[in-house]
Amino acid sequence: MIRLTSLVATGICLALVSGQSPAEDEIVDLTHAYDEQTIYWPTASGFELHIDSRGMSDAGFYYEANSFETAEHGGTHLDAPVHFAKGRDSTDEIPLHRLVGDGVVIDVSEQAEADRDYEVTIADLKAWERAQGASLNGKIVLLRTGFARFWPDRERYMGTAERGAKAVAKLHFPGLSPAAAQWLVDEREIKSIGLDTPSIDFGQSVQFQTHRTLFEANIPAFENLANLDVLPASGFQVIALPMKIAGGSGGPLRAIAVIPR
Ligand SMILES: [Zn+2]
Repeated sequence: MIRLTSLVATGICLALVSGQSPAEDEIVDLTHAYDEQTIYWPTASGFELHIDSRGMSDAGFYYEANSFETAEHGGTHLDAPVHFAKGRDSTDEIPLHRLVGDGVVIDVSEQAEADRDYEVTIADLKAWERAQGASLNGKIVLLRTGFARFWPDRERYMGTAERGAKAVAKLHFPGLSPAAAQWLVDEREIKSIGLDTPSIDFGQSVQFQTHRTLFEANIPAFENLANLDVLPASGFQVIALPMKIAGGSGGPLRAIAVIPR
């Protein structure tokens, strides 16, 4: 039996073949798992899974159930605009069309390899447009720094494995420059943006101007993404759905990419 689900509004067409091998579309998981190794900001405590039940019940059947504890901003997660912009969208208020759509990858892994404090420039964004002969308008823009290869080594991924407020000054990882964020807001209309580091501002940021600029314009961000290295520069769909926390400033995110075959 073939079931065809067509999400016309977003241009996504997934053929689901039940009882047989999956459809030919390649689905890439852009998400790190949540466990005791999951990387959080130095000032946040990590992910905690509490086992509430695990084993045979008195009635004779097997039963597992857990509860969990997590900061909103750890592991692969969403930053809602309200995180740095009063009155802008909270997690539950972000329109779904910003979280589903055409994805593009801007590869700055060479620059980030040479300089772990690298900030993605306007020229990097324009270079993608020139090479692809396309505009970033309407896209979900993914910045590939290559830093996901260091996960879950905190020191290599973030620049320090230390925790607490003092560790924040020791963070070194790439991000999007404030000038490039401003250009995206002024000159383009993107849906959302994401990258494979802990923050859309680079590690040495103090003012978090990139967050503030994007979020003032209601553009959400995805952080700590995985597997951007297996995506093409364009021609795929992104589905990035966070846990729908009412009034949330962010939240755990399951993000995937669908590459049509
Ligand atoms: Zn965040």
